[in-house]
Amino acid sequence: MRLLSPETVYPLLHETFHAILHSKGREYGCDTEETYLRALAAGLSLALRDNPDFAHWLLTYRQPKA
Ligand SMILES: [Zn+2]
Repeated sequence: MRLLSPETVYPLLHETFHAILHSKGREYGCDTEETYLRALAAGLSLALRDNPDFAHWLLTYRQPKA
């Protein structure tokens, strides 16, 4: 599997988090939103980089059939 660098993943996560908040009807939170999303995107991009088994599990997990 070809891995993307955290520098590539970070802005994708950051903008995805903005899109999620927008899709949930949240008004743009300006500096507060940016502060939280910078921390979340940076932390998640590094967590995924440093834990490739977790990243793989997260992307391939399927709910067991009931
Ligand atoms: Zn932003």
